[in-house]
Amino acid sequence: MENPFASIPQVSRLLEDERIQRWFPRLSRSLTSGIVASALQQVRQRVKETGVPVSWEEVVETVDRACWRMHRKRIQRVMNGTGVILHTNMGRSPIVSNAWDAVRELNTRYSNLELELQSGKRGLRSGLIPDLLRVLTGAEASIVVNNNAAGILLTLSALAKDREVIVSRGQQIQIGGGFRIPEILSLSGARLVEVGTTNITTLSDYLSAITERTALVLMVHASNFRIRGFTSQPSVKELSSQLPPSIGLVVDQGSGVTWESIPGETPIRSYFEEGAHLVCCSADKVLGGPQAGIVLGKEEWIRPLRTHPLMRAIRPGKTILSLLEEVLIRRVDGPSYTESIYSIPLEELKKFGRRILKGIPREIADLVPSFGTTGGGSAPDEKFRSLAIELKTEEKPESLLSRMRDLPVPLIGIIEGDRVKLNLSTLWGESVGEVRAALFSVLNLPTDERGTRATADEDFSGASTALEEPPEKEG
Ligand SMILES: *Cc1c(COP(=O)(O)O)cnc(C)c1O
Repeated sequence: MENPFASIPQVSRLLEDERIQRWFPRLSRSLTSGIVASALQQVRQRVKETGVPVSWEEVVETVDRACWRMHRKRIQRVMNGTGVILHTNMGRSPIVSNAWDAVRELNTRYSNLELELQSGKRGLRSGLIPDLLRVLTGAEASIVVNNNAAGILLTLSALAKDREVIVSRGQQIQIGGGFRIPEILSLSGARLVEVGTTNITTLSDYLSAITERTALVLMVHASNFRIRGFTSQPSVKELSSQLPPSIGLVVDQGSGVTWESIPGETPIRSYFEEGAHLVCCSADKVLGGPQAGIVLGKEEWIRPLRTHPLMRAIRPGKTILSLLEEVLIRRVDGPSYTESIYSIPLEELKKFGRRILKGIPREIADLVPSFGTTGGGSAPDEKFRSLAIELKTEEKPESLLSRMRDLPVPLIGIIEGDRVKLNLSTLWGESVGEVRAALFSVLNLPTDERGTRATADEDFSGASTALEEPPEKEG
């Protein structure tokens, strides 16, 4: 009998196969050959155990599947059907595509990142950002760092090292991904002074905790939870009117909301009007920018942050700063991505849903009332009315969700009442044709004339503008 090991192909021969070569641009040639080598090892093991020779086809298929699995690890586009607009697992806010396009060239060529064109000397990295933020929030000065956590760390390190920071027990929160106020405080070298209880903190709790070592009072917006019932917490205004002038009042605002657009969220400007010295927020939540953190306030409060050595370690690069600048220009004149999703009329969502479901029997998928949320650490209690596609197959919801994640462009749904649902608010920026094609595929509907044609030429977006230029803000 022929030696079964002789049936195992060489790595080099496999790398000449077209089906394997198509992975080179997506995984690199090196990673692909690594996958081929380890797949062959498994094949060899199998041959050893069974004594059965393998076919070329079988080996190519094994390698192809292994490449596919590796490729699924890549950061890639998904369609968000969860109804959570700012989902940290899904990259928080999409960046409007015209802002992205606008910074392409300066990022792929040289830029004046730290070169002042007028004087030819070294300049600051901030471009127009502080000017735009001043218009948006009323803050005299600002700095941009890698994320809000870094902004708080910098603030505490620069203003409260070896001194005390007063924080309410009701605000010592953890926000997804291990952001814990007490830990950041201890990392900065500041000493945490806890006041009040989980549900009640009074003005006099704060005032009686003040000593000559107090540097700051830190107030944190409860962005992913809410304590209900018998609760009380003094406002920024009440506190600021009673604090000695040397003590800084810092508000971690979180979302970056700049006007009254989202119920339950206080715009940055209002905190300054109430007397906050510094306000910090994320740039990639409601503001709609890239991942960054922003600290805003009077120049005298911002200067120690700008010149602190830690700043050098947490400063963003040209990609982030140029994108943020571009997004802020749009923000000054109109709503952000999140705000525009928040205000889509239900009637429009219904039309969008009907177009997606055209020709799909109601017993298989139907439109149902639903709610969307802002998510990503803002307005935890606030839901807005939305619509969802409910899938009514017999398949176990977990299994359906998993097959939807396996689509070429993964479709991310949620389970509600034992059914898989796809919320239309967060799908709004997607094309009708693409969502349709995904549904046809996952529901095993015959890709009839409708299904296939939808992908080819009905490729208009439900929003038509949501991911491009948000519609004019209302009111
Ligand atoms: C989201 C959030 C943070 C963390 O911000 P990152 O930009 O993820 O570092 C901190 N505080 C509040 C109130 C938040 O909402």
